[in-house]
Amino acid sequence: MKYDVLIIGAGPGGIFSAYELVKKCPGLKIAVFDTGYALEQRHCPIDGKKIKSCINCRVCSIMSGFGGAGAYSDGKYNITNQFGGTLYEYIGKEQALDLMHYVDQINLSHGGEGTRLYSTANSEIKKLCLQHDLHLLDAQVRHLGTDINYVVLQNIFAELKDKVDFHFRSPVDHIEVLPDGYRLTVGDQTFDGTYCVVSAGRSGSKWMETVCRSLGIATKSNRVDIGVRVELPAEIFAHLTDQLYESKIVYRTEKYGDLVRTFCMNPRGAVVNENTNGIVTVNGHSYEDPAKQTQNTNFALLVAKHFSEPFKDSNGYGESIARLSNMLGGGVMVQRFGDLIRGRRSNVQRIAESFVTPTLAATPGDLSLVIPKRILDGIIEMIYKLDRIAPGTANEDTLLYGVEVKFYNMEVAINSDLETSYRNLFVIGDGSGITHSLSHASASGVYVARVIAGREEENGTNA
Ligand SMILES: Cc1cc2nc3c(=O)[nH]c(=O)nc-3n(C[C@H](O)[C@H](O)[C@H](O)COP(=O)(O)OP(=O)(O)OC[C@H]3O[C@@H](n4cnc5c(N)ncnc54)[C@H](O)[C@@H]3O)c2cc1C
Repeated sequence: MKYDVLIIGAGPGGIFSAYELVKKCPGLKIAVFDTGYALEQRHCPIDGKKIKSCINCRVCSIMSGFGGAGAYSDGKYNITNQFGGTLYEYIGKEQALDLMHYVDQINLSHGGEGTRLYSTANSEIKKLCLQHDLHLLDAQVRHLGTDINYVVLQNIFAELKDKVDFHFRSPVDHIEVLPDGYRLTVGDQTFDGTYCVVSAGRSGSKWMETVCRSLGIATKSNRVDIGVRVELPAEIFAHLTDQLYESKIVYRTEKYGDLVRTFCMNPRGAVVNENTNGIVTVNGHSYEDPAKQTQNTNFALLVAKHFSEPFKDSNGYGESIARLSNMLGGGVMVQRFGDLIRGRRSNVQRIAESFVTPTLAATPGDLSLVIPKRILDGIIEMIYKLDRIAPGTANEDTLLYGVEVKFYNMEVAINSDLETSYRNLFVIGDGSGITHSLSHASASGVYVARVIAGREEENGTNA
């Protein structure tokens, strides 16, 4: 089958490439391939009753399918260059922000209207943080919520489905370079196209490595973030979350000089499992609908670990730690902060007697048997620091879930068009290693679509 543009991955990167191409070049024949299912068919079997934890489905509906890893996310759309990726290094800060705003407007016009845009600018909280050597990063945050995020995706799909060929349950095996384009192999079928946009996200990271190896595209990788997800009564962080929704706070530890940061804050949300390549880690989300909200707020505390030569497998390091928690806990482990400080494990009784009711059925255990001392020390130091700006954070019953690992895809060598050394072969989104968020991944999709539209214009082929 012959197309003009082949897009691999139906996450935010792939979706916004397709969306923008349809707008800018309505005459192009576009195909999108995804390992996972269409949005309505995406179902995680964990129901909290019969199936309580991850059963390692062959295709993970949390990570794959229309909407990608973002489909069941909290839909926190961060408009900033300070975190969420380094797209700005390739396309410039102003353009990166413009594209994030552009995608925000598309989200609003597809069901997101009425959602709130928070901002950290000039806030009193910033001053409070600084007084305690904590550093609040600048951002605007649109909170769509898991429910509205889903509606936005439904509406975008409805708009695209007659203009783009979506191939679900279609994992791309190989990308072959042809004299005038690319050939994708999906099982026993092949698809040819002039342009190829690869947006394979986190779940496609291993596959992406094989593609780069086989095509001789350079990559580099040296970072992984390891930590825990903290869960506490929503009141403790309400003065921050009511004003900012999400606060990204960074702290440099006294003991080791490591940077610890808050990540993915979910006011009145729920802690959830995440499955990456068969390894169960922890994550969180929350709903915009008050009826679905919980009594608790959760957020991650992560320590960035950078490795230098000769060690190259930073993700392997993170995976080994997560595997250890899976081995001891059968999945995610939970521990009361008070138990951790006393050097004892949490057990079912201690968790049951806790004043904080866990929102995830995790196995009570001892995180100090899993997380390296240096990282755990940093997390404990940060919890005591946060206790100064949000008293109660260091309470005995604060729950810590582990392990939260933020894997980074290796960085693929691309130029300022987000193009590899092969003409018209682009790598975008989290799969490129340069974005780590909904906003940056979506913006990279729009950007590359405009590059393609520009080339079509030059060729005089844009209908
Ligand atoms: C639980 C959870 C909550 C999150 N919450 C937030 C949040 O609130 N805010 C935020 O900014 N970010 C959040 N994130 C991160 C965000 O979802 C990602 O940064 C974003 O989805 C990246 O978009 P992407 O298009 O690059 O990749 P993805 O969304 O990962 O999509 C990649 C797609 O490619 C497909 N694919 C991979 N390999 C192949 C192949 N060989 N053939 C065909 N298809 C393939 C996959 O099935 C997948 O659907 C969250 C992530 C998770 C898991």
